[in-house]
Amino acid sequence: MDLGLAGRKALVCAASKGLGRACATSLAREGVAVTIVARGREALEATTEEIRRATGTVVTAVAADITTLAGREAALAACPSPDILVNNAGGPPSGDFRDWERDNWIRALDANMLTPIALIKATVDGMIARRFGRIVNITSSAVKAPIDSLGLSNGARSGLTGFVAGLARQTVRHNVTINNLLPGSFETDRLRDNFAEAARASGEDPAAYWRAQMAENPAGRFGDPYEFGEACAFLCSAQAGYITGQNFLIDGGEYPGTL
Ligand code: NAP
Repeated sequence: MDLGLAGRKALVCAASKGLGRACATSLAREGVAVTIVARGREALEATTEEIRRATGTVVTAVAADITTLAGREAALAACPSPDILVNNAGGPPSGDFRDWERDNWIRALDANMLTPIALIKATVDGMIARRFGRIVNITSSAVKAPIDSLGLSNGARSGLTGFVAGLARQTVRHNVTINNLLPGSFETDRLRDNFAEAARASGEDPAAYWRAQMAENPAGRFGDPYEFGEACAFLCSAQAGYITGQNFLIDGGEYPGTL
């Protein structure tokens, strides 16, 4: 299926690894020129080379912290008028809410709510003027089914989800859609770190914990980031102009609800 994206430009945040990298790769395969952002230069440069080699498309790397004003300015300087914006950042730490102070909450809100909103604000009017725009926010299954130890994530991402629900209905008549992708468990560094910490906390062997979590998923496995990237590319496609304000859970059926 041709997604009708050749020649488009995308800004993909937090994309040297994991889900962000998968989104950038899938878009690049469709002929999109991608600008990828991450803090660590080494992984960023390796990913840039890898996507270039695999797709032959233009890949621009920006080494910056997307949760800072300077980082966002650097990203937007490299890709001032994206047709596609993929919002992503590292997830907040786990813990007990009794231990979190205002600063912990502000950091989580900055990364997982206010940064995506700032980037939407900086890019959405240009998309409206050009009559094409696709914005995808990577959130979490925790928006639909909160995870006890990830209260910072549950809270901050729900704030973004509420905001997007309103805005997405205002932009769609201009062929600018805004949707959220909610990952369940995907095999990335983040998942490995979270599960290693959970295993430590419960005194279990990390490898046994990993296998048990995998077995509990109805799919009997974790998600491959490639599967996530392809879903992102479809949401960004020319064909997806009537899909907006939605929250797509990709979790192998782990969420047990009918709807
Ligand atoms: P990952 O494999 O750890 O990759 C995170 C990527 O984001 C890296 O490229 C990292 O590079 C970059 N990054 C992190 N903080 C950044 C910042 N402040 N500015 C710029 N780049 C930044 O993580 P992932 O699993 O892909 O997760 C992506 C998001 O999805 C996270 O918010 C995570 O909480 C959420 N999520 C993931 C899962 C899952 O199963 N994997 C499930 C639910 C939710 P640098 O560190 O070099 O900056």
